[in-house]
Amino acid sequence: MITSEIGWNLDNSYARLPKTFFTNLNPTPVRSPKLIILNHSLATSLGLDVQALQREVGIQELAGNQVPKGALPLAEAYAGHQFGHFTMLGDGRALLIGEQIAPEGERFDIQLKGAGKTPYSRGGDGRAALGPMLREYIISEAMYALGIPTTRSLAVVTTGESVFRESLLTGAILTRVAASHLRVGTFQYAANWGTEQDLKVLADYTLQRHYPDVSDVANRYLVLLQEVIKRQAALIAKWQLVGFIHGVMNTDNMTISGETIDYGPCAFMDVYDPATVFSSIDIQGRYAYGNQPSIAGWNLARFAETLLPLLHTDQEQAVQLAQDVVSNFPELYRRFWIQGMRAKLGIYNEEAEDGSLVEDLLGMMKEHRADYTNTFRALTFDRLEEQDLFGTPEFARWNEKWQARLARQEESKASSQQLMRNNNPAVIPRNHRVEEALEAAVDKKDFTVMDKLLQVLSDPYAHSPEQEEYAVCPVQITPYQTYCGT
Ligand code: AMP
Ligand code: MG
Ligand code: MG
Repeated sequence: MITSEIGWNLDNSYARLPKTFFTNLNPTPVRSPKLIILNHSLATSLGLDVQALQREVGIQELAGNQVPKGALPLAEAYAGHQFGHFTMLGDGRALLIGEQIAPEGERFDIQLKGAGKTPYSRGGDGRAALGPMLREYIISEAMYALGIPTTRSLAVVTTGESVFRESLLTGAILTRVAASHLRVGTFQYAANWGTEQDLKVLADYTLQRHYPDVSDVANRYLVLLQEVIKRQAALIAKWQLVGFIHGVMNTDNMTISGETIDYGPCAFMDVYDPATVFSSIDIQGRYAYGNQPSIAGWNLARFAETLLPLLHTDQEQAVQLAQDVVSNFPELYRRFWIQGMRAKLGIYNEEAEDGSLVEDLLGMMKEHRADYTNTFRALTFDRLEEQDLFGTPEFARWNEKWQARLARQEESKASSQQLMRNNNPAVIPRNHRVEEALEAAVDKKDFTVMDKLLQVLSDPYAHSPEQEEYAVCPVQITPYQTYCGT
């Protein structure tokens, strides 16, 4: 491994996989890169020099005009079910530059998103626009601060070139940092277009990289399946608990590491409604808020199918083993979710009726179109004048039950409130705030609005006075819409 002035300490383990899994390729140079935003704390934690990254050499590397020392850029091959339809995909506009070994020894993929065409681009131009890349930066960093496993954003540069969508937009490149970019879709690719040996190599690589403790247990591929299912159950529960709607839960957008990936049409729900959909292309509501757990289960069944040849020499037995594991998903998910919901309501111990206590509250929130985040926040701080819902007789009855429930546990009212503070964010990246920040940045080159938003979102459980104005739920006149692929 070669170090550099920027602090790169890159390895390329993915590039040592069989050739079928990638195409070596350098980024396509861009005209005149400019650094728009750099994540100082992430850079430092990766062992990178913030000053050097801001100098010419750093900016050229973040734009793909120069390849860092020790890098071996490549586009990953993968497949995926997109809205239920299976197809060959791959990195169409992203390139893995290498894997940074951070000072603590942890390995992180460094990927340039928007780095030019690849053999997997199909009709696309391989490029990205400034607005959506800043949007990914804001939301992924907000997710990180909320304590949700996610890919992160190191930097955004503009390219000095335009990208043509419906109109001409400012071209940009995002540097994405991830535990890896291995997806359910990577396994689908191996199972459909690779040999059984390729599949086995991929599974062993994944185990070594993400689940090193289970590398040498009996039937390690079954354990891989179990562990991925567990991490995804935990992840989706966290999404539901904060009202995050991914928007495009295709199997190629589901990681094996258990991190959230692909911030295209995602958005946070304001008013509680399981049917909430923001993505303009999700006409059927396949990826609606309330469908996310069952879609995750469906995706994991697709993952299990890819592993069948490795699970048992007898295919019937392999199917049985896989089914037993996959069928655990709903129960596992539910356990993580209810655990999180108890914390949101200040409950430490378990009682059988907790599920209905939570569901009754959600039912009332839906009926009264209550803001999801602010309802929990008001309950945390006893601000029961804030939502219409709190004035209703049914809420009064529910509140009595809840208070009685809290009284039945040993913990004090104060520690109960602390638990709620730690689990009910004051701020989420509200759609109108994100749009406001992007508009200022993209249309007016004013980055102060975004900087302030990022600062507020970086400590969502602070409950500080300055967060107050960011916690306001907007009165939505037209439904909010999001778009992918820009
Ligand atoms: P997504 O919906 O973001 O998961 O993207 C689906 C596929 O489209 C992936 O293979 C992407 O690499 C590819 N893709 C998205 N945008 C572009 C683009 N502008 N040029 C080439 N490929 C793209
Ligand atoms: Mg994707
Ligand atoms: Mg995308």
